[in-house]
Amino acid sequence: MPLYEFDCLSCGQSFEKLVRSVGAIKDVVCPVCGQTHVQKKLSTFAANIKGGSSSSASAACAPGGA
Ligand SMILES: [Zn+2]
Repeated sequence: MPLYEFDCLSCGQSFEKLVRSVGAIKDVVCPVCGQTHVQKKLSTFAANIKGGSSSSASAACAPGGA
């Protein structure tokens, strides 16, 4: 079972939970307030975007060495 990170939209709590399938994500409840207003984080995807912008920034400095 994959482990997902969630943010609670009701109280702001972040938590991790094992989810059996994509369809079970809508059944996840916040462990603090018990609300179902939770949003799954996309942490791995966000990290990839951040790494790409970093490499383009260093390329902009290159022409100084001509
Ligand atoms: Zn909550």
